[in-house]
Amino acid sequence: MSARIAIAGGGPTGLMLARLLHGDGHEVTVFEADHEIGGLCRSRDVDGYAFDLAGGHIMYTRDPRVDAFWTSLFTDDPLTSIKRDTRILHDPDHWVSYPFENGLGELPLDHNLECTEGVIRAHLARSTAPQPEDFRGWIDWKMGAGVAKHFMAPYNEKIWKADLAEMGTTWIADRVPDAPLEDVLRSSLGETTEGYTHQINFRYPTHGGFADIHERIAAPVRDRIRLNHRVEQIEQAGEEWIVDGERFDLVISTLALHDLPKILKGMDPTAADAARQLRFRGVACYLLGVEEEWVKPYCWVYLPHAKQGPANRITYLSNYSPNNAPTGKGSILAEVTYDPDLPVPDVTQQGRRELARALQTAGVMDADRVTVTDAHLNRVSYILYDLDFEAKRNATLAYLDGLEGFEAIGRFGRYEYHNSDQCLARAFELHERLAPSLARGGGDRRGATLDGGSPLA
Ligand SMILES: Cc1cc2nc3c(=O)[nH]c(=O)nc-3n(C[C@H](O)[C@H](O)[C@H](O)COP(=O)(O)OP(=O)(O)OC[C@H]3O[C@@H](n4cnc5c(N)ncnc54)[C@H](O)[C@@H]3O)c2cc1C
Repeated sequence: MSARIAIAGGGPTGLMLARLLHGDGHEVTVFEADHEIGGLCRSRDVDGYAFDLAGGHIMYTRDPRVDAFWTSLFTDDPLTSIKRDTRILHDPDHWVSYPFENGLGELPLDHNLECTEGVIRAHLARSTAPQPEDFRGWIDWKMGAGVAKHFMAPYNEKIWKADLAEMGTTWIADRVPDAPLEDVLRSSLGETTEGYTHQINFRYPTHGGFADIHERIAAPVRDRIRLNHRVEQIEQAGEEWIVDGERFDLVISTLALHDLPKILKGMDPTAADAARQLRFRGVACYLLGVEEEWVKPYCWVYLPHAKQGPANRITYLSNYSPNNAPTGKGSILAEVTYDPDLPVPDVTQQGRRELARALQTAGVMDADRVTVTDAHLNRVSYILYDLDFEAKRNATLAYLDGLEGFEAIGRFGRYEYHNSDQCLARAFELHERLAPSLARGGGDRRGATLDGGSPLA
């Protein structure tokens, strides 16, 4: 049996599902609002420089199936392997190893002392102090006052554009490096240790920027993708679904949950209200082509301090593949997060010049010797984990997961802090769950919920 399946959104999640379901012989249609596919994983060529439009992206995963799938996609042009070497720019003379607690010995001595003392005090206090529910309290509780002051608080305020006391902590596991005390003490005494080791080796496409992954995923379904089609209405009609006037047996939505109340006709008011209140952040990305001498031998560098300008992170993208910049040149990709309810960062020529000047002040580059620039605004990039995040998300999904023939999936399609590898893993899982009943021509497609599936960690 061949089912008519609408996939809303042509990012990694939607493309992977389109590939899998098309492979089973179903009639898939991917609706993508933009003029190109890839979502947050898009790249653009700018005068010979690869520009990953939503910031520095790398390929790493704990999922063996995704790992093997990536390898199989690139047999004709093997992926480049890279060993992570990443810094935190403490000041122009101190490029401290990342994660911060694994590089304390590289700080000025008084700052090292403050951080180390704080880590020990926090370690001792934790035996009696309960874990705070807000992120700002959690930072002190977990890492101590010194690390909070010299890195964690300013960096997180910069990236989240939010009061950290109004953020929750449920997202932290696996997202914030957690160094054992012994490693911290060793690093404080001058022996830099490795943290966050699951990410220490990563891969990257040799040609075409990060987008090459999703261009390849989409290859078998190219003619099933409708670009420049923003889905405006999804409506249930008996056993069928109508998407902008066309009939389907199944809808797979990777659309942001906060947009669904405008799109999904007849959405339950409580769920719609919860969805509307989910919050997110955007990221403005700036590509700066520079002379090779300004490219440090690092992958990416965090800029935690306000005096270092608006960028929270730069990536030396030309270090990921020799094809990411013309010979003799290099590239710096800077990320500036923003609150979409406030004026957006300036991505005009003037804004790019100002950003380059700020990076010069921070000690990163010579702003007068930038050879090429480009910039891109990504309005929906990071989930903001405010204190009632879980309640709002759960209320939204409780309703959506009960709809027969409608599947919500994806980074913003389920509001899960997923990298693209986890999006692919979830697509595999959903495909496995749907395949038997789709093959039978319908019936109960729900089976176990996604959240009940095996953990990806
Ligand atoms: C700064 C940053 C760094 C990251 N680093 C990494 C990394 O190192 N490695 C990694 O693997 N991942 C990384 N990620 C995560 C990765 O980008 C996402 O996990 C992935 O892109 C999510 O895929 P998705 O398909 O769920 O959503 P998206 O990529 O957001 O795609 C959703 C698609 O839906 C389309 N759409 C939206 N509304 C409509 C509509 N109404 N109608 C039709 N189409 C619509 C959008 O245009 C978009 O194409 C990073 C993300 C950010 C922001």
